[in-house]
Amino acid sequence: MNHTLAQALVRASAQAVDRLDAQLLMLKVLMRGQTERAWLIAHDDHVLTPSQWREFEQLLLSRSLGQPLAYLVGEKEFFGLTLTVSAHVLIPRPDTETLVEWALNTVKDSCLKAPAIVDLGTGSGAVALAIKANAQHAQVTALDLSPDALALARLNGQRLQLDVRWMESNWLQGIQGLQTRGFDVVVSNPPYIEENDPHLAQLLFEPVSALTAGADGLRDIRTIIQQAPSHLNTNGWLLLEHGWNQANAVAQLLTQQGFTDVQSRTDLGGNTRCTGGKWVFTHT
Ligand code: GLN
Repeated sequence: MNHTLAQALVRASAQAVDRLDAQLLMLKVLMRGQTERAWLIAHDDHVLTPSQWREFEQLLLSRSLGQPLAYLVGEKEFFGLTLTVSAHVLIPRPDTETLVEWALNTVKDSCLKAPAIVDLGTGSGAVALAIKANAQHAQVTALDLSPDALALARLNGQRLQLDVRWMESNWLQGIQGLQTRGFDVVVSNPPYIEENDPHLAQLLFEPVSALTAGADGLRDIRTIIQQAPSHLNTNGWLLLEHGWNQANAVAQLLTQQGFTDVQSRTDLGGNTRCTGGKWVFTHT
């Protein structure tokens, strides 16, 4: 017997899969856009082929085992952009929109004709692409150590027709000599979770290299703060996302390194989520 959409949703609820998630998974199976829930609702009696039903059951099972919805449907919305995601990259979080907004304001305030921006550890390309989409005059570079992440980010750039320069690099290490002029804004949402943080148990499916950074979660932030000055133009900014309880530590690291105007921004949940500073020195 073939199943209808109505029966599929009953099956989902029997497996304790959220109704919205089930609808989005169904749209994926039917190869319809993720915004077409109205179609599903209007076609309750639509009959699935046996292979569609099997695929749906498979997706329900994965979802009930905790696979993030974004990996199953293969996409995630970020800052108004639809990004392709895979298990090679961190799923973009709404909290990271704070970093993008700050970068865009910094670009605007700089009044530069062609500000140079670099996104470190770009993953899906979310931050770099959101910046480029909203500041077309900016020259955006995005780096990642993972070739798989970079391939996906590049694909996202092509799909969205946003011109970002993608490069493989361990933070700023690989960029030596490739950039003739420095950057006006360096942004990063690096891994920052402590290696033993119990909260990691809820993040089993994402790449651990995109999540944790040493015992105190600050290993990569320290590296970036040390590397950034030699790549920043005078009055350039370094803007970093970090954990909810790391603002003071990051501010201290920035100040010790010689950054000025050190300040923080809060995310949608009211957590101090980003801290940054200005580099006022001139390189000779
Ligand atoms: N904000 C993410 C989380 O706590 C972690 C992202 C990161 O480490 N950059 O779920």
